[in-house]
Parts: sequence; structure tokens; C-alpha cells
Amino acid sequence: MKLIFLGPPGAGKGTQAVAVSAELGIPHISTGDILRANIRTGTELGTRAKEYVDKGQLVPDSLILNIIRDRLSAGDCENGFLLDGFPRTLAQAQSLGKITDIDAVINIDVDDQTIVERLSGRRVCPACGATYHVSTYADETCTCGERLIQRNDDKPETVLNRLSVYHEQTRPLIEYYRQSGKLHTVRGSAGIQALTREILNIIDKVKR
Ligand code: AMP
Repeated sequence: MKLIFLGPPGAGKGTQAVAVSAELGIPHISTGDILRANIRTGTELGTRAKEYVDKGQLVPDSLILNIIRDRLSAGDCENGFLLDGFPRTLAQAQSLGKITDIDAVINIDVDDQTIVERLSGRRVCPACGATYHVSTYADETCTCGERLIQRNDDKPETVLNRLSVYHEQTRPLIEYYRQSGKLHTVRGSAGIQALTREILNIIDKVKR
């Protein structure tokens, strides 16, 4: 199964991708996670990406495509993969189409107001990557013991920028994949587990 999870920042792509990739036994590839790991460890890629990520802008396609080409050529992608946060532009989608065929695109639909609320209240664990929301988790420490942080790009001014980048550059991909007959839209406001089940049902039907 070669899958793409599409949707605005904060739609729940990461949360769903963790559950769905574990269930299907395929790697979860998040370009955002790869970039953040490079920024944390201070690689050349991280240094180049940081100025864009911190402002909520898209990292240039050429950098992202190098990451994707590298990652998809690894042995664990032979039986499929789940892409989370890629592609984000039409050019990225077209380049991906030249590298490989995709089986299904799951578009997680969430309205703008919900996105702003979710992202501005999101806290993440820099050690294990777990995410929480201040409305449901009052503790400042992750269950793994690490102190939670707010991502730089979850600060209010950057959230609005990320949303407008999504509408301008990523949203057109919905139509692009609809035309290829691969698009399946789900409502991101459903509960986490209900949404995982819905997505797995869709994938089951695609497989048959
Ligand atoms: P995410 O964790 O998916 O929200 O990504 C965080 C940030 O990483 C984005 O706001 C971009 O700056 C950068 N990024 C992640 N994926 C891509 C991509 N496919 N193309 C360009 N920039 C990306």
C-alpha cells in the first residue's frame, strides 16, 4: 500500500499516520519530522530548512524531493509506505508521480477555526514525539518524563501563515488527486479511533 495523507496542518495527519502505518506494517514518512530531526541535530539540511520551517513557509521543493527520493529508495519501503506532509505543492506531486505510483490519497478535512484552536493549544514531546492538547492534558510533562514544548511554528502568527500557505499551495492537490480517482475524503472532526477505523476501511476496499 502506497498512501498519501493530505490535509491542513493540525488535521490529525500525524496521529492517524502513526496508527494506520502500525496497523498496515508500513513505514510512516513525515517530511516535517525528518526536517525537525535535521534541525535538532544541526545538519546542513537542517540549517537550510530552519528559516523556512520557523516562519511556517514551505521548504524549497528541491530539498524536499532529495529527502523523499532517498527515503523511498530504502528497503523498508518495498511493500509500501505512508507519506504524511508530502506532497505539499503541485510540483512535488508531479515529481512523486515520476518516482512511483500511489494507491490511495486520504484527505483529512478540517475547518480553519478548528485548525487554529488545535495548533495553538498543541504541545509536543521533543523526546518521543507524542502530541497533547492543553484543553485535555494539563500536565507540563510527557508520560515519558520529558518536558513538553510548543513547536515554534505552532505560535499564533505562524499558524495563520501555515494555513494560508496550505490554502494557496497544498489545497489544489485535492483536485489533482480527485482527477486521478485516488482521492478519499474523511472528516477530521471524528474521534481519533473512529477516524482510524474509517481510514482502514477505505484502505481495505482499495486493496480488494
Ligand atoms: P509538518 O510537521 O508537516 O506540519 O511540517 C512542518 C514544516 O516543515 C512545514 O511548515 C514546512 O516548513 C516544512 N515541510 C514539511 N513538509 C514539507 C513539504 N513537503 N514541502 C515543503 N516544506 C515542508
